[in-house]
Amino acid sequence: MCRHLGYLGPPAPVGELLTRGTHSLRTQSWAPNDMRHGGTVNADGFGVAWWTDEGAASRYRNSAPIWTDPAVEEVLPQLSSPAVLAAVRSATVGMPVERTACAPFTDGGWAFSHNGVIQNWRTVLPVVAKQFGSPDLLDAESATDSAALWVVLRAALDGIGALSSSFEGRSESDARLRAVAAAVTATVRAVLAPAPSARLNLLLGDGETLWATTVHHSLSVLVTDEVAVVSSEPYDDDPRWQAITDRQVVTVRPGLLVVEPLDAAPSTLS
Ligand code: GLN
Repeated sequence: MCRHLGYLGPPAPVGELLTRGTHSLRTQSWAPNDMRHGGTVNADGFGVAWWTDEGAASRYRNSAPIWTDPAVEEVLPQLSSPAVLAAVRSATVGMPVERTACAPFTDGGWAFSHNGVIQNWRTVLPVVAKQFGSPDLLDAESATDSAALWVVLRAALDGIGALSSSFEGRSESDARLRAVAAAVTATVRAVLAPAPSARLNLLLGDGETLWATTVHHSLSVLVTDEVAVVSSEPYDDDPRWQAITDRQVVTVRPGLLVVEPLDAAPSTLS
């Protein structure tokens, strides 16, 4: 099962975030502590997104194991970003091992990672997509559940303008932040309805906020006034890491941590 990481805070070297701590994302790729559904190594590639000054998500991906790629130490540390979203992949059995199957999936200012599996995704996701304007799943970068889920979530995110107006009385940025959480929640619930055993730890970022869900897999957060980190497993022994329980929706920014039960969080369009 994959491991993922999101960072928001003072600009940090992109490569350093992949190797930060005694239990870094790179270490988690070959020695994870909390793999809840089989799998022992995340050797089917990795990816990392960072944000440009204009707010676009840029990325680097490789289908080789993260520990074999010299770019992690020789190139990526030269990039600096106040926001990073990264993932190491253990391909679900039957899914292709290729660069385009590696998260993060990006579009404009968005970056996305999925840790988990949607069994029968070829049947389930076309049905789910109909609830979000029927995006074309053939647009998925790779024939995997995660890449197709990104097409669906991306379509759900197109609805956040309408969602924002339903959070009246809040500032514009707070309403948007809640609307994105609602779109993520709606997507996860829409998948769980026909596929209740789907495992859906999602991680989404726009360069300023991170949204994450826990459905089956582990997740921890570390939030201070300066930084907000979301990680499948804590990368060090800082006592401020908080484990997130199952079936939650998490919204974080430096100085902000909102954790809502997935089954109770707002998700409707009106
Ligand atoms: N099912 C996804 C894939 O194969 C994610 C796998 C995982 O979480 N290990 O890419």
